[in-house]
Amino acid sequence: MLEFKIIKKDGAARLGELRTAHGTVETPTFMPVGTDGTVKAMKPEDVAATGAKIILGNVYHLMLRPGIDRVKELGGLHKMMNWDKAILTDSGGFQVMSLGPLRTISEQGVKFRSHLDNDKIYDLTPEKSVEIQHALDANITMALDECLELPAPKEVIEKSMLLSVRWAERSFAAFKDRKGYGIFGILQGGDDWSLREKCCELMNKIPFDGLAFGGVWLNVLTETIDVIIPCIPEEKPRYVMGVGIPADIVDCTLRGIDMFDCVLPSRFGRTAQGFLKTGGTLNLKKGDMRDDMRPVDEFCTCPTCQRYSRAYLHALFKENEPLASMLLTWHNIQVYEDLMKDIREAISMGTLSDFHAAWFETFRKYHPDEYAKFKSPSRTIMLKK
Ligand SMILES: [Zn+2]
Repeated sequence: MLEFKIIKKDGAARLGELRTAHGTVETPTFMPVGTDGTVKAMKPEDVAATGAKIILGNVYHLMLRPGIDRVKELGGLHKMMNWDKAILTDSGGFQVMSLGPLRTISEQGVKFRSHLDNDKIYDLTPEKSVEIQHALDANITMALDECLELPAPKEVIEKSMLLSVRWAERSFAAFKDRKGYGIFGILQGGDDWSLREKCCELMNKIPFDGLAFGGVWLNVLTETIDVIIPCIPEEKPRYVMGVGIPADIVDCTLRGIDMFDCVLPSRFGRTAQGFLKTGGTLNLKKGDMRDDMRPVDEFCTCPTCQRYSRAYLHALFKENEPLASMLLTWHNIQVYEDLMKDIREAISMGTLSDFHAAWFETFRKYHPDEYAKFKSPSRTIMLKK
């Protein structure tokens, strides 16, 4: 079991503490994504130096390479990576379901062939996914669910949601409870609000340690959250998977979300896009960076911004030097972790709605194009899960 303590409430937002066997995670929290047992281009100790207290690992990738038995032989994910803080693992469901013709779904689970070795057939059932996450030594296990592609007719969404609930029951039954470890269920129901509510009602009967949201469209993200939040118990941590850019995080915390994960800070760190504390991004490959001696972000205290110029990063990215990704990923993750710290401070002072307004005003002022894109109703990207 995982102990979750709400320290302070500010409107719908909460300041909390999630106590795991690998340390206490203050919430709202952001989890950098460590797909293959590494947050790409970052040493684990540097990830920790940004203030991150929890990272996310992917079952699917680790299952294929180096393989779960190998991770187990190497002492589990914490020991293998030299990361002594908390780890949440995904169930593998999302990646497997994305394999399209390479997978088949049945009541039992999913059978798939991987994109790496076409010959071998893998089996992923709710029980198997939980067993793998146990072997990895994940502090937070995610229940296996069906990740349906939207849009879909209501009957299809309902059938899929009910299958996910049955899988959630099986996942919970397979979970070996111990102190400092927990399992989260995933709420499905697509963009049909009555199905979302029905899913909450069914999932509330399973005593999960926390609840996550899956299959959300970005343009209705806040609406989805507003539908779900009143239907789930207040005392459980709430995790929205795959979110997001800083603007999404600021919006979601105001509505009561406690946990986030996203590949963007590390992916952008490898593609020359730096996140700025003013809410937007900066392309380090652009020509006007060539002679810019300022740090990536003048308001940032990360080692990259303290020691290196935009001009140097520009030159490194132009030459595809690995150091470019290392320096910019560090900066990006620092921006995310600092944002979470600012949000937690605002909640503790009871000023999150003022913080929210000021943050968006800065975003709109300094990055009008990115702000307009964020507000656009056509932002219909589907989040992972
Ligand atoms: Zn920085």
